[in-house]
Amino acid sequence: QTIPAHIKATADAHASEPALVDRHSDRRWTYAEFDHDTDALAIGLLERGVKKGDRVGIWAQNVAEWALIQYATAKIGAILVNVNPAYRSHELEYVAKQSGMTLLVSQISAPPHSDYHGIATEVAAKVPGLELVFIDTVPADILGEVSIGERESFAHLIGTGRELLEDRSAKYSVRLQQVMDELSSDDPINIQYTSGTTGFPKGVTLSHHNILNNGFFIGELLSYSSRDVVVLPVPYYHCFGMVIGNLAALSHGSTIVLPSPGFDPLASLRAVTEERATSLYGVPTMFIAELEHPEFSGFDLSTLRTGVMAGSPCPVNVMRRVIDDMNMDEVAICYGMTETAPVSTMTRVDDTLEARTQTVGRVMPHLEVKIADPVTGQTVPRGQKGELCTRGYSVMLGYWEEPEKTAEAIDAARWMHTGDLAIMDDEGYVDISGRIKDMVIRGGENVYPREIEEFLYHHPSIRDVQVVGVADEKYGEELMAWVILKDGFEALTAAEVKEFCSGKLAHFKIPRYVEVRESFPMTVSGKIRKVELRDEGERIIQ
Ligand code: ATP
Ligand code: MG
Repeated sequence: QTIPAHIKATADAHASEPALVDRHSDRRWTYAEFDHDTDALAIGLLERGVKKGDRVGIWAQNVAEWALIQYATAKIGAILVNVNPAYRSHELEYVAKQSGMTLLVSQISAPPHSDYHGIATEVAAKVPGLELVFIDTVPADILGEVSIGERESFAHLIGTGRELLEDRSAKYSVRLQQVMDELSSDDPINIQYTSGTTGFPKGVTLSHHNILNNGFFIGELLSYSSRDVVVLPVPYYHCFGMVIGNLAALSHGSTIVLPSPGFDPLASLRAVTEERATSLYGVPTMFIAELEHPEFSGFDLSTLRTGVMAGSPCPVNVMRRVIDDMNMDEVAICYGMTETAPVSTMTRVDDTLEARTQTVGRVMPHLEVKIADPVTGQTVPRGQKGELCTRGYSVMLGYWEEPEKTAEAIDAARWMHTGDLAIMDDEGYVDISGRIKDMVIRGGENVYPREIEEFLYHHPSIRDVQVVGVADEKYGEELMAWVILKDGFEALTAAEVKEFCSGKLAHFKIPRYVEVRESFPMTVSGKIRKVELRDEGERIIQ
């Protein structure tokens, strides 16, 4: 099925029920209104000359316009390009050029100091053919105010479409229906850039089928229905917000609630209480911020039953508090990547606490997962470590205009090689144990940094630690530990670390170098960039 066909059917079944709530700007859409407004926006885009296959960018935080543009572009078969709202001119220019973007929908600003309007204007001058539309339908205190022309106004774009939809001859709705009838579920509909944890972001190209099916099955496993109200503090630009959040909910007649444009723990807690939410999303650090908020105990969270945590492993004590103190008995852990639309494995609502903290659950319905020897490609026995590979409807069409990279990632039998190391147990539960790129080969021994990091966490002065491999003439690679010290500690030497590890870790796993720093370099989606730590380490030891 195509996304518009599915959403139309859902809108017919739930017409007068709430679809979307944007709390910060206090606006609400029923399914019928949402369908009507996305029709209007789709017609506005067609009138402007946007055609099937054209790349339309969206560079904004979590405001309702994001969801409207997502479905409006799907209705006309334009390819939506998600641009990370934390990107600045250099990155925006790269993705606009790489994707061949012809229209960018952007917010105006994000108080107090992000000038989206200025940056978008500067970048558009360098990208031939790129036109701009600014979201001016949100109160100015939220997304800023500048004077823009009619052609650059979101209000004008959707207003034109609304007027044409009223046309008595119905010729515009007939035309839109024709466009929708010609779409195919295998058409590309979305380009999402990866987080850039291991290098430059790649433009993952996804079809209707990729993301709609993934979102739908996630909603199935969470038992979503029109009774569910889903609070979404995770960003829309990422597949976590767009597929695990938006598509999972809207394909089941549930309500999506946007608590605030950027993450705000208080706004999320308020949204849960006041909208009587049943589901709450977040990465582990967001849940920690909510649980530790001084006003936490004042909120009524009794309506919550489920939610999703993804992106990185969740500490056991956090998971326990999410279940006990937030009532999220059915909270799920998802594992996936942008290239697989995104979810490949997921815990089920009745899984044990142990399964939800030690594993990322089992394979999704209608998908395949295997753990393979990274060299031979053969499936390893259960309980052994290898590369997680996945196959099925969710595997991307490819990296946008990078056929060589696509061929490296997807093999002839259509297996997507994730680059993640994992172990599958006898019951099919998967445990992610690091990335192949992070694996260090020291004197012929394979060393998994994650194992050493977990051991070093127990050192009394270490608050956080990252272990990387640095080039070494004698051993090929040597281990370096980058540590952040706990308050009150000033230094840590390699000799002290060696003594701590001696007799407990094999000699080849003991870091030869130890470096102290205040923080780790992060990607905008909150992952640590080990590549940078490696480069810096190599410079230091030279
Ligand atoms: P890039 O591909 O540009 O280097 P990235 O891989 O971080 O960046 P994403 O597609 O956003 O970009 O992230 C997918 C990766 O996140 C997975 O390959 C995996 O390493 C990690 N990941 C996702 N979910 C989990 C999880 N539940 N537990 C542990 N790691 C996870
Ligand atoms: Mg990746």
